[in-house]
Formats: sequence, C-alpha cells, structure tokens
Amino acid sequence: MMSLSTNILAVLVISFQLHFVLNYRQVEEEQDSSLFPYNTRSGKKRRLDESAGASEDRVKKKPLVQLPASRWHISMNVPVSLHAGCGPDDYTNEVYATGILKAKEVLDERARQGRLSQFDLDFGYSQQISDHDLLLGDVHSKTYLDSMKQRTALAAASGMQQAASPDSLSYGWNSNTEPVTRMAANSLVDLAHHARQSTGKQPYFGFNLFRCPSHHTRANWRHVGLGINSAVQTPPLAEDSLTSSEGPLGFCHLASIATAIESLKQQFGHDRYAIFDSDCHTSNAYEDYTHSSNTTLLLNTVMKSTWPDNGVHGLAATTGKYGYSLSIPYPQLSGDAEHRYIFDKFVLPMLQEHRPAVIFHALGFDIMKGDAYCQHARASAKYHAYVYQRFRELEIPVVTNLEGGYNARNVGDGLQQILDALDGATFDDIPAPSAKRTADLDATMKSVLENVPTSWPFFPAFLQDR
Ligand SMILES: [Zn+2]
Repeated sequence: MMSLSTNILAVLVISFQLHFVLNYRQVEEEQDSSLFPYNTRSGKKRRLDESAGASEDRVKKKPLVQLPASRWHISMNVPVSLHAGCGPDDYTNEVYATGILKAKEVLDERARQGRLSQFDLDFGYSQQISDHDLLLGDVHSKTYLDSMKQRTALAAASGMQQAASPDSLSYGWNSNTEPVTRMAANSLVDLAHHARQSTGKQPYFGFNLFRCPSHHTRANWRHVGLGINSAVQTPPLAEDSLTSSEGPLGFCHLASIATAIESLKQQFGHDRYAIFDSDCHTSNAYEDYTHSSNTTLLLNTVMKSTWPDNGVHGLAATTGKYGYSLSIPYPQLSGDAEHRYIFDKFVLPMLQEHRPAVIFHALGFDIMKGDAYCQHARASAKYHAYVYQRFRELEIPVVTNLEGGYNARNVGDGLQQILDALDGATFDDIPAPSAKRTADLDATMKSVLENVPTSWPFFPAFLQDR
C-alpha cells in the first residue's frame, strides 16, 4: 500500500523534475537571444520579516515561516548554475556544472528512495539579493557593486563570455555570473534566517548548493572593520599583490556568508556567529570579515603552499596569523586522519566554547583526493561525513555554502556521505595521524593561538596553557 507521504513525495519529485526541465529550456532560449535572463531586484529593500522569502520572480516560492525543528533545507538553482561563468576557463566552468548535476543526481536518487523526507528541496531558487543587503555592514562597497553591474552590461552587449579584467586568470564573467551569484547570496541569507529562527533539540541544517563560490571574494577588504580593534594589528598593505585589492578572486564574486551574518545581526542583534572554512584554499573573504571582529569566529583550515598564498593572505595561509581570524595551515598530502585531528582538537572545541547562534560552513570538496586544483589533497568523503556527525551532536544550527570542488564525482560522494551522517550513520573509524604528524599539528595550533590577543573574549581556557 502506498502511503500518503509517499504519494506526496512522488508528486514533489515529479514537479521538481518538471520545473527543472522547463526552467532549463527557458534559460537556453533566453541565452540564445542574448537577453539578460533574470530579473534583478537591485535597490529593492529586503524585508527582514516572516515574508522575507516571498518572491515576485518566476519561480513561486513559499513564504519564510517558522519551521519545525526537524525541517532542513537544500537550496539550488540547477539551470542557472550550469551557466554561471564563475571561472575564466572552460575546465573550471564545466567541472562546476557537472558537480551541480552530480549533486542533483544524488538528491534525486535519495528522494526516490524516500531518504530526504526531512528536507525541503528547492532546485529552482531564483530570488536575487538587493544592493541594500549586500551593502549591510560594508561587506561590499558601492564601487564594487557598480563594477559588477558594468561587467554584466559589457558581457550582455558582447556575448556570453567576456574577459573581465587584467586579473582575469583568477575569475571569469559572463552575463549569468551576477544573477546567479546574487541568487546564491539571497538563498544563503534565507537559509541563515531559517537557521536562526529554528528551535528545539534537533539542529537545523541548510545547504546552499550554488555556483559561484564565495570565500575568496575581496569585496570587503577596505571596508570591514580593519583597524577598529586596536588590539589587532592592521594587516600590511601590498598594493602589487594579487590578494591586496578589492575585486572578485578565485572564481568568487560575493562574500555571501558575511552578508548573511550582517543580515542576521540587523534582525536579531549582535549574537556570536562562527564560520568554519574547510576548503583546501584560504578564506580571503572571511579573513577580511573577521580580521577585527571579536564576535564572529573564523576557523579556517588551509593546505600549506596552496594558491593564493601571497600578499596579505599569505600570512593566514602560511602562518595562520591574521587578526582575530584563526587559520590552521596543514601539510600537503594530509588525509582524513590529519583533518579529523585538527577538527577534534581545534575546530570542535572552539565551536563548543564560542557557542555561536549559527555555524556557517564554507564547504570545499577540493580537500578530497583527485581534485584538479588541490592536487595534494588526500581526504575522502568520510571526513566530511564525520564533520556532520559531530555537527549533529553540537545542537547548533548549521548553514553550509558550497565553495570549491573540482572533481564532480567527489562532490557527489561527499554530499552522499554528509547526508548519510545526517541520517544517523557514524564515521568514527578514522585513524589517528602518525606521532610526528600529531606533534607537528599540535605545534601549529599552539603557534596560531599565540597570535590571538589575550583579551580575546573566546580564548578558551583549555588552550591557554598549551
Ligand atoms: Zn578551494
């Protein structure tokens, strides 16, 4: 006998698939006519109330309401993410597209199996974030947003693909890039508001599976808090450095996690928040954002000698020292053992001490073996699953933003095992690192903490005497 819930699920799956096909065709047709394909909502003030998710866009959305604690979200826009143009080269854009398709395949299969019943799936999220929201907290400057609009106009006038700047090696641009990255940012803000409003013992999980990624964006480097706290040294300026100027970087265009936190602060006050960046590469956007902040904690694990390790952000990527942000540089060829060790000894205790209202996870599947842009990565899907197993136990809402990942199969495997962990599977059989690796990682963690001013309010007692 087919139950009522199975029937509902079947209808949902069919409607999602139908929506996907219709939306995909629509994008293809509009691209052919070189029209700007998506409505912009620039300048329209976002309403930070229960109707904040209501959309006038083509995809009819449910209003944002108080959710039962058991409800989780996965938000994507599959069709537009396939044409996002985040990277300057065909390989990057193709692997981003195939990664999104792989994630969709995993989700479709789990939905068919009835294993996503706790999730609210949105495969066609299309509401774009306003300039008003992007300017919150000076996370982005008006100059930055204007330059983005100019690039979009140029790309629309001259065809889909447009070399963006002399620095075009680090990012790409086409007429889809701004719309999709604004959708990704607004979707993340919505998930953050769901998370912040969630209650109960069972933590909320929101997954923002969009392209482009966010964590390299240098939209805020002159604007967010640098120098506000005199206990933190202003970072050195190096005008000729790749990472020392405002602009898109590393296929990233909006610092959307910082914007989500500013949006929460505006509505809920200055709570504590945390960002855990587990991507292979360093977290330029959020290092800037948290450099002088003693309310938002950045925990950034980063592989040594990996792009971009020059300029001001070379400090974080090589030494871990960059204001209040905490980066743990780990050796190349680190596998699940080293990642788990850092997570257990540093990331998890810091989160427990800090007790953020929401954890934002900048999730990079590029730490998995076989990644094209992190060739010395040796972790597996199991480490990601382990992280979410531990997240469940924290009883803190988690909002995850997809960052790097240049191997579509890894994206699928990583997502699959994360969802297994949320289903209750355990992944405790990751071994300890060698004694030498353990000693090296302990020394790194101690050295990083020497950077933190003793007045730092989260400085955890358990680490003070290390
Ligand atoms: Zn990366």
